[in-house]
Amino acid sequence: MDLNGHLDRHGAVLSIDLRAVVGNWWVLNGIAGPGRGCAAVVKADAYGVGLAPVARALWQAGCQDFFVALLEEGLALREILPNAAIYVLTGANAATVDIFARYRLKPVLNTPNQINVWLIACQAQGEKLPAAIHVDTGMNRLGLAMGEAEALAQEGRDALRTMGIDLVMSHLACAEDRGHPKNQEQLAAFQDIRRRLPMGRASFANSSGIFLGPDFGFDLFRPGVALYGINPTPDRENPMAPVVRLQAKIIQVREVDSAMTVGYGATHVVAEKGRIATIAVGYADGYLRSLSSSGTVYIGDVPVPVVGRVSMDLVTLDVSHLPENQVRPGTVVDVIGPHNPADAVAAAAGTIGYEILTSLGARYYRHYEGSAS
Ligand SMILES: *Cc1c(COP(=O)(O)O)cnc(C)c1O
Repeated sequence: MDLNGHLDRHGAVLSIDLRAVVGNWWVLNGIAGPGRGCAAVVKADAYGVGLAPVARALWQAGCQDFFVALLEEGLALREILPNAAIYVLTGANAATVDIFARYRLKPVLNTPNQINVWLIACQAQGEKLPAAIHVDTGMNRLGLAMGEAEALAQEGRDALRTMGIDLVMSHLACAEDRGHPKNQEQLAAFQDIRRRLPMGRASFANSSGIFLGPDFGFDLFRPGVALYGINPTPDRENPMAPVVRLQAKIIQVREVDSAMTVGYGATHVVAEKGRIATIAVGYADGYLRSLSSSGTVYIGDVPVPVVGRVSMDLVTLDVSHLPENQVRPGTVVDVIGPHNPADAVAAAAGTIGYEILTSLGARYYRHYEGSAS
């Protein structure tokens, strides 16, 4: 079926460029350089872009280390990539250790209790089961507190030898703000803890962290959002290639005139004679309601404002400035595209590109470009 056929059925087509995902990984892997590695964070269905196609493409490109948030995500990824290293960021507990061991998933151990549970599993199996240790250097969210990490380094030597700790990691709170003093504070804390916990590889930099300089790199980069085309350096031009494009089809065009209103709540009042076009995308598809009267879509190179409220399945556009023959039922509109990438949509919605991507709806027809399978 061609684009139009899918648009007739789904209202919108989400194109995901796997070559761009792979290209973005190569860019970051190139910054890592020889002797260091680049993992891929593929939690939340690869940031809404699609776990299976993304994971397969990156594995084929040479990526060997993957991070997910949840055990369930790790199990799904294990089916897709039988031989990849899969780290599960929320870690294991007494109820899940056996599943981790059976599927060779590596828990990221975040608390003394998680470490203890893993230690007991290693002793029970008589095997150094692989895992990571996460030290919280300033997020105060997840990971060992600095004092707990120091105590582990001093008093837990036997325990550390019994487990297969192959990664020590921490996570940056302010990496996208290169001037933020917290970056250097966290770096100093992580360097200190790394000296005390020298086992396995060290991993510190998320997408933006990679661009803070070589000190932040350590052994394994841990990018997520940059792989999917979001700008990891918001103060500079985006070094990543765009990955997603969302195209919708106009389903109706209507004439309006002064003092008519458009949409729920009658929030948009028409000022003069003009035309309103409606597309079948709405907040149920992740086109956030905060884009009401603030989003911009494109018809070709021409910006077209969203007017009135975004509804569940529909968005209304003011197309009065375009010639009638260029705006008809069937005309294709870029909701996310070359002129309005996910970062720009996010700015208009008052959020971040991460949320735009992870909200991408389930009703879109998904077309994967460069898919091997
Ligand atoms: C989500 C996440 C990442 C990836 O962050 P990006 O900003 O998307 O690159 C890396 N590490 C941890 C611990 C995370 O939770």
